[in-house]
Amino acid sequence: MFKIDAEKASISTKEVPNCGLCGSVMKKSKEAKSGGMGCLLLIIGVLLCLTLYGAIIGIPLIIYALHLGSKRRGLWVCTKCGHQVERKIKWNEWG
Ligand SMILES: [Zn+2]
Repeated sequence: MFKIDAEKASISTKEVPNCGLCGSVMKKSKEAKSGGMGCLLLIIGVLLCLTLYGAIIGIPLIIYALHLGSKRRGLWVCTKCGHQVERKIKWNEWG
């Protein structure tokens, strides 16, 4: 019983969906929507931390920037027609 469950789990993690439009194989992709914004805030945060009082604003800014950077959406993109489907990002997958 346990063996069957383990096999099922290993299959589901490797499973790659097929495109809903053309049926072709889809590949993993990521949408870097707020990546640039997060990066900019991170730089500002680090610069603020260099000054004594700036760190008060700088540290929360860095945390917010990292939060923005990790909030990217996962996507499945069709290798043939480019059709995109939202993908659930695993908790251990960064960004
Ligand atoms: Zn397709």
